Amino acid sequence: MSVFYYNSPQKEYDAIVVGTGISGGWAAKELCEKGLKTLVLERGPMSDT
Ligand SMILES: Cc1cc2nc3c(=O)[nH]c(=O)nc-3n(C[C@H](O)[C@H](O)[C@H](O)COP(=O)(O)OP(=O)(O)OC[C@H]3O[C@@H](n4cnc5c(N)ncnc54)[C@H](O)[C@@H]3O)c2cc1C
Repeated sequence: MSVFYYNSPQKEYDAIVVGTGISGGWAAKELCEKGLKTLVLERGPMSDT
């Protein structure tokens, strides 16, 4: 699994989203916009696009 951080890793998160499909990606967006510290886990490879 690739590891990519937009921010430095935290010891605690308010929410964890498993999978960045349509549902997971949107859920993570909403959680971040509400100010929750959100961790997203994705088993697939990083996209170049
Ligand atoms: C051939 C096909 C055509 C389709 N066409 C349409 C269409 O035209 N219009 C439409 O509205 N819908 C269509 N769908 C349905 C649509 O693709 C799904 O409903 C939608 O993608 C579901 O989104 P999701 O976020 O729930 O899951 P997904 O998009 O499947 O995302 C799940 C994510 O979770 C990740 N994941 C899974 N397990 C783990 C794990 N253990 N750890 C970490 N990450 C994990 C996966 O890698 C993936 O990125 C189609 C589906 C198929 C198969």
